[in-house]
Amino acid sequence: MKVTVLGKYGPYAGNGGGTSSYLVRGENTSLMLDFGSGAMGRLQKYVALSELDAIILSHLHYDHICDLFPLGYYLQACDMRIKLIMPDTDCVQNKILSDFGTFDIVPVSQNMQVGEFKLNFEKMRHPLESYSVKVTNGSRSLFYSGDTVFCDELMRAASGSSLMILDCGKADGTKAPHLSLSEAAFIAKTLQTPAIASHINPAVSYKSPSGFVTVAEEDKTYML
Ligand SMILES: [Zn+2]
Repeated sequence: MKVTVLGKYGPYAGNGGGTSSYLVRGENTSLMLDFGSGAMGRLQKYVALSELDAIILSHLHYDHICDLFPLGYYLQACDMRIKLIMPDTDCVQNKILSDFGTFDIVPVSQNMQVGEFKLNFEKMRHPLESYSVKVTNGSRSLFYSGDTVFCDELMRAASGSSLMILDCGKADGTKAPHLSLSEAAFIAKTLQTPAIASHINPAVSYKSPSGFVTVAEEDKTYML
């Protein structure tokens, strides 16, 4: 099982970068966690769009979904469909995605399966309904926080994972609805689990992370 960071920024991309999007690949299954700006072009460097088994959305904020709209045009042009697992949030984004008619939309439920991957969702704390997901393949599991503040639910959901991708969208000591790098370091140390700090805000200057945390690099593949 491996995960490739396609977009590491949020809420907008830094120079040459993309926003939240991660490609997870196993032996026979490929899925995307979020589908932010730049995702569609970058994804095709690794897998054909027809080989993607599902796209999972943590929540429907634009920096996590925006390349779905051009993807929808592509699917219409090729008469293709793709499974889209996402929160059934009452918002305009949900309506637009439904209206495309090219996505097989499946609402998030706690335990799901896509190919060889078991998916466990937990509701996090964010202004818009948002879920973490743990992707498990045999004894290895990737935890993706989506967007959230620090909370007990996050600690519980991330426990037992092999690698974490954590939303580090806020500066230390500020009140934005994200984690800070220090909070990510605390989570990683407490759970004794390596973490990739992502959802990097281009406007924040981050300190050097501690031993358990590394800052995400786009186009880098992490093995689990
Ligand atoms: Zn968000």
